[in-house]
Order: sequence, then structure tokens, then C-alpha cells
Amino acid sequence: MSRVNPVHTEQANAISTNVHKFGGSSLADSACIKRVLTIVRRHCKKDDLIVVSANGDTTDTLFALFELAEAHDEALSSAIESLKLSQLKLIRELLSIESGQPLIEALDADIKQLTFWLLNQPQQFTNQILAFGEVWSARLLSAYISQEYTASYTIDARDYLIVDDAKHCQVQYEASQQQFNQLLEDQKLAVITGYIGKDSKGEAITLGRNGSDYSATIVAALAQAKNVTLWTDVDGIYSADPRVVPNARKLHRLPNEVAKELGRLGNPVLHAKTLKPLSFEQLPHTVHLHVASSFAPEVLGSEIGSFGEIAKQELSVTRLNDLLLIESEFLKTEQAKIAFEQFSVEQIDHELGFVVVQQHTQQQVTDWLASSNVQVRVTPIALVAAVGHNIAQQGNMFARFKRATKSAKPLRFIQSSNNHSIIAVLKENCTIELLNRVHHAMTKDARHIGLVVAGLGNIGEVFLSMLPEQLSRHHSLENTYLVGLLGSKKALIRDDGINPALAKALYEQHANDYDKAALMEWLGNHPYDELIVVDLTPSEEFSDYYQEFFAKGIHVIGANKWAASADTPQYNRLLSTASETGSLWYGNTTVGAGLPVNYALNDLARSGDKVIEISGIFSGTLSWLFESYDASVPFSTLLKDARNQGLTEPDPREDLSGKDVQRKLLILARLAGFELSLSDISVQNLVPEALQTISIDEFLARCEELDDYFEQAFSDAKAQNQCIRYVAKFAKTSAGYKAEVCLAQLGLSHAFASLTPCDNIFQIKSQWYHDNPLIIRGPGAGREVTAGGVHSDLVVACQTLNKKSKPVEIRGIN
Ligand code: ADP
Ligand code: ASP
Ligand code: MG
Repeated sequence: MSRVNPVHTEQANAISTNVHKFGGSSLADSACIKRVLTIVRRHCKKDDLIVVSANGDTTDTLFALFELAEAHDEALSSAIESLKLSQLKLIRELLSIESGQPLIEALDADIKQLTFWLLNQPQQFTNQILAFGEVWSARLLSAYISQEYTASYTIDARDYLIVDDAKHCQVQYEASQQQFNQLLEDQKLAVITGYIGKDSKGEAITLGRNGSDYSATIVAALAQAKNVTLWTDVDGIYSADPRVVPNARKLHRLPNEVAKELGRLGNPVLHAKTLKPLSFEQLPHTVHLHVASSFAPEVLGSEIGSFGEIAKQELSVTRLNDLLLIESEFLKTEQAKIAFEQFSVEQIDHELGFVVVQQHTQQQVTDWLASSNVQVRVTPIALVAAVGHNIAQQGNMFARFKRATKSAKPLRFIQSSNNHSIIAVLKENCTIELLNRVHHAMTKDARHIGLVVAGLGNIGEVFLSMLPEQLSRHHSLENTYLVGLLGSKKALIRDDGINPALAKALYEQHANDYDKAALMEWLGNHPYDELIVVDLTPSEEFSDYYQEFFAKGIHVIGANKWAASADTPQYNRLLSTASETGSLWYGNTTVGAGLPVNYALNDLARSGDKVIEISGIFSGTLSWLFESYDASVPFSTLLKDARNQGLTEPDPREDLSGKDVQRKLLILARLAGFELSLSDISVQNLVPEALQTISIDEFLARCEELDDYFEQAFSDAKAQNQCIRYVAKFAKTSAGYKAEVCLAQLGLSHAFASLTPCDNIFQIKSQWYHDNPLIIRGPGAGREVTAGGVHSDLVVACQTLNKKSKPVEIRGIN
């Protein structure tokens, strides 16, 4: 599961131990457990370790039994019976009669014991009662793995995990480790109970609600594991609970300190102490913590770790309802402090002036306060919090948070002492509407967009030089980050971003060799909501990657003409893949550089206009040559002159062949809604056949052979008061269409006759622009205009992507 950057980071150690924790939602019913088996088969080696929560909401049920018992409620025995039946159902659905029998017998004995404790001393055996959930769950999964896959055994955490006290759950690592090692068996897969342990006297304890996450990281520390995956019912940690905030975004990389704060505030995805064991001094290496969905194991989840600036900007919003706020001078005393620790009270505020009590301990705490005969004020409250790295130190964030929560008239605002959260204390429960409003205000629902720039030549360089200013200028680019630079052989990929102002220097210093497979692997695992590849290469080979980009949902913008002029089946495949995955493909600079011709055609087609004809001069080089040629100097002299000025390709035959113009005409005709291929456009190659295949040097030496043809063409035209221009023309006909690229004679007053040399001109006739066609004219090549045109595409792409919302799919019991 570890996200490995194949281009430049260290490789993960393939033979390390991994811990897999399956939460209650992943083990809720037999279908879920079957899914877990598939994950185990695919992801677990024999020496990996599995940690489990109780099945589904078994712990809630055990708490409920406890309350019924305390209240001497008659419903208790039927509630016990239905709990037993639910366990029996799981055993029967998953295990054969033979493998199920020992579990049924053990369950019978447990239920007898449970009933006895509930009826006699529920208070004294609370933790033993709660432990049944995890014990049953481990027993069942282990038996099922043994039956279906490979030998497996269970470890009851009360046999090794020693913690100081129920409040802090500080692990006694040395003693625990010794006992743990003794329990390990060779060549068998261990299934370990989460949530439970023992204190130093050997009495059962629990690690608190959602404590199995903590169990998993403790196991990782004891086993020196390299990866811990928390398999749950949602494919990562989101910027808010995705069940109720549809615009919540997955946080692909969550900084440790932010995850810790989320846990402290009671967010269900991570237990407050989950990260503690991972900073255990004796750990010789970093442990990677992942959150993934057991319902969609192939989807990359969230990774918790230490990351750079981009991940640190991630924010999330969380709420806690049905709390009690307890205020009293008495709470500042040492006596109160000790007493509250015993009740596992969460002290949200750092001033000891008040405490917030979570629902499940409210009764105990209020009873204790009543019996202590002290003056206290108890108020029902709720909390809503924004959590992010150093969020409390960002004045604008606090102001936004206050504005967003204003309508709920908070009693007070709290800034956590670590600065990673700001909290509003509310008089009433935080509603879904309020949570959504706060989420929107804090995150602007903005998606994080990664940018990979391919092609660092002329246009790439100018594009990058414009990038820092563009990023700071446009609101829609606020969360866009340069993360990759690709040359033809070397690449620089940084999940944490590349400073765009130093892009070139960083590339030169740090770029590494890459191949297509490594690149695709990274692109398949990138930690951004959206990824845009900006293709500024002239490379046909690179355009072959588009199919895979689109299949991965990656967006492409750029000036590369190859893909847009590929043959019809391939082009249609690209379009349909992009539309299936929602990939954007913008190429306004493939024709006429920054001139908005692609845009205009797209817009006409989208608006319902019907294009009848597209014509013009599409090559800056050929525009210059024929605007300048008046037969006073030979054509070949002019051509060499243009070449010396850098106005032609290094081999000018590429310009003279008309191929490039042919591709551009194809692209435009397609945008107008016609289906055709390159071979449907006839093209006049201005290079005589004899000169087409010889070397460039020989061609330049024999260039004069072109002269007679152009001199003749020029004088023929002049005789009719006309001029010669290299023209592209696509026209709809009654039989279909006609498309050609050739040297044409035009009247001197024709729109194409007197251009500024190098300019392109595009003339579009349509139903709406019929008698007086639409003309777009201007420089059709050049570094600035092309790079500027790509930036224009980038802004539109980011605006579109920011508006996109991906509803989160949660499959499970919730
Ligand atoms: P498990 O049973 O695997 O331990 P939990 O039910 O304890 O899982 O926690 C996962 C649930 O937490 C998800 O179903 C989700 O609805 C909820 N949740 C709340 N806040 C978030 C968040 N910020 N990101 C992801 N899930 C969240
Ligand atoms: N079963 C326990 C609970 O529901 C522990 C856990 O699921 O992590 O809180
Ligand atoms: Mg949980």
C-alpha cells in the first residue's frame, strides 16, 4: 500500500512486516468478512499481523446491554439472545459445520459468562464484557482464514498488551514486547484482538472507543512493522465526514499532527492515540500509516505521515454532538484532575477551567460530581472544529471560521494549544447544514490540482517562467501546484511540489532518468484530487501516452498536435476514454498558437451553429514566405533567409511539405463536428519529389531547383492581378466535404492576400456567419503567444475542475 515515488524516492522494503487492521464496518456481516478474506489473500504474507475490531456495532450492543443491566431492565435477556443469534449467524454463514462447532461451543460458554456478569456485577466486569466483541471477531476471522486460505491463530491482547491506566493507555513496551513475542507462532497468520489489553495488575482494560486503531499501531511498534493499513468503510480520511458533507474531499496525505488533532477531537476515523506508538523512540524506521476501504481495496486511500507544505495546507472539519460542558473552580484542583482521569474524560480545552464530557461517560461523571458535593455548572454543548496544520495562527482562517459559525451563536471559541485546531463551542448540536457551511467556508471546497509539465524546450521554458505570476494572479489556481517536470529522458517528480520560480534549476540539479512504466506508476498513484499534464512536447511518442492518461482520469492540455490529428479510430477512442473518466483535454494552442480559433469552433459547435467552411493560412512560415516573395529574389534565397532567421523548421521541407497545415486543418474540421482522417485531406507538397528524401545538406545545396516553379506560379498569378498563397480549405459539400491544402491563386483584395508576414488567418463560414464570414487573424506562432495560450487553457481547466465535485461512495453498515 505504501505510495512509492518510482522516479526518485527510496523503494519500500518488500520483505517487511505489515499490520492490517479491519474495523467493525469491514467485518459487519458475512459478505464483508468474505471481502476481508480477499484482501488478506492479496495483501497479507504469513508474517503479517491482522488486528480486528468487533463485528459491526457489537461494541455498541455490549454498551447497551450494560446499560440495560444497570437499569435492571427486563429487555436484557432478549437483547443478549439477539446478540448471540447475530454471532451464530456469522459462524453458520462462513464456516463449515466442522470448523464452526468449536466456535459455537465457545460462544455458548461466553454468553453464559456474559449473562452472569451482567446480572451480577456489571460495574466490576465492564471491560471483560466489552472485550467479547473483539474476541468473537478475531476467533471468527481466524477460523475462516484457516478454513479458506492458510493456517491462522488468534492472539487475545489481554495476554500481552500492558498499559498504565485507562485514561492515558501508555504502553509498557518492554514487558508487552516480551509477552507478545512469546505468543507469536511461525508460519501461521495471527489475528489479534484490537481495543483491549490489561493493566499492570493483569485486569482487563479497553483503549477507548475506536481503540483498535491504537491497537494496530501498538502491534506495529512491537513487531517493528513498516506499514499499518486501517481498512474501513471509507477510502480515506476526508475533509469532513463524507456521509454528511457531499463536497468533502479525500485528504491523500495527512500530516501526523493534523491526524492526531482529528483523533483528539473524537473523529471516528482515527483514535486519538493512534499515532503515539509510531513515534516510539525505539522504532528503527518510519512506519507508514494508511487508511483504505475494504469495500474498494484498489482505490488509493490516505497516508498519514510527515509531508511538506502542500499537504500541510489541507484542512478538515469535524463535529462532536451531545457533549456536556462542566465548569467549576473545583476542576482546577489536583483531586478533580485525578478523578477525571479515571473517567476517561476528554479535556478539550487546555485551561483546566472546564471539561467536555463525551456521551458514553456522562452518567459516570455527573454521578461522581453529584456525590462530591461541589459547585459545578453543567451545560449540554456540541463542538464544531476546523483542523489543519497551524490553523489557529492564520488570522484569516479564524475570521472565516467565526463568520461561518456566527449563526449558531457559539458560546466561545477555543484555539488548541498546539495551534492545529480552532473550535466553536455550540449551545445546540451542530447540524448537517452548519457542518457543510463551515466546510465550505474553510476549504472553499477547492480541489488540489497537480501540474506536470512535459517538454522543457522553448515553449516549456516560457510557460514555466510565466507560471509563478499566473499562480498568484488567478483565484482558480490557488490550489494548483507544480509537481512534475518531464524532459525526454529525465524527470523531476515531487509530491510536495516544485517551486515554480526555481523550476529549471531544480530540474537541472535533481532530475532523474525515467521510463514510461515508472512514470505511469507514479501518475496512477499521485496524491492530488486532479492531475493535469501540460504537454509542450512536439513528440508523437508522448502523445501515445494520452490513452493511459485519460484511462487514469488525468487531464491533458497542450500544444501537441499528434493526438488530436491521430487516425479516426484512435482519436475516437481517446475522446470516449476521456469522457468515461471525466478527463479534460484542452488543446487550443494546437492550431494558430494562442489565437482563439479552436475555441471559436468549439463554441460555435456547442452553441448549435453549423460550420460550412474553414479556410485560411495556417502556417506562419509559409505566410512569411509568400507575403515576402515577389520574384525579385529567387524563392530559394528567401527560404534560406527565413531559415537563418529561425522562421522555418531546421529542415524547411517540413514546412514546405504542408503536413503540418494538413494536421491543423484536420483538427479544426473535427472541432467543427466532422469525422475525417488525415488521408481525407489532399495536400500539395511544395518540395519536388526528387528533393523529398535526400539529406538536408543536399537539399539546401539543390534548393535552387524550387525556383522555377514558384517564379512561374507567381507570374501566372500576377498576369491575372492575383497573388499566390499556401491555403488550407475544408468545405462541406452535398456529397460530404472537400478538404485540401495547396498553393492557390487569390485576388489581391482577398482576405488572405495581405497579411503581416508570419500571421495566420482563419476564416469560418457557418449558418450564422454566412455572407460575412468570421475571421480570426494574428500571430500563429511564437513562444509567448503559445505559452500564453496554454496558460489560458490552464485557467479554464482549473476553473472547471474546482467546480467538479466527486460524491464519496461509502459502502458499509453506516
Ligand atoms: P471502522 O468501523 O472501520 O473503525 P469507523 O466507523 O470507526 O470505522 O469510522 C469510519 C467512519 O467515519 C466513516 O464511515 C465515515 O463516515 C466517518 N467519518 C467521520 N469523519 C470522517 C472523515 N473526516 N473522513 C472519513 N471518514 C469520516
Ligand atoms: N470495537 C471498538 C469500538 O467500537 C473498538 C474499535 O472499533 O476500534 O469502539
Ligand atoms: Mg474506528
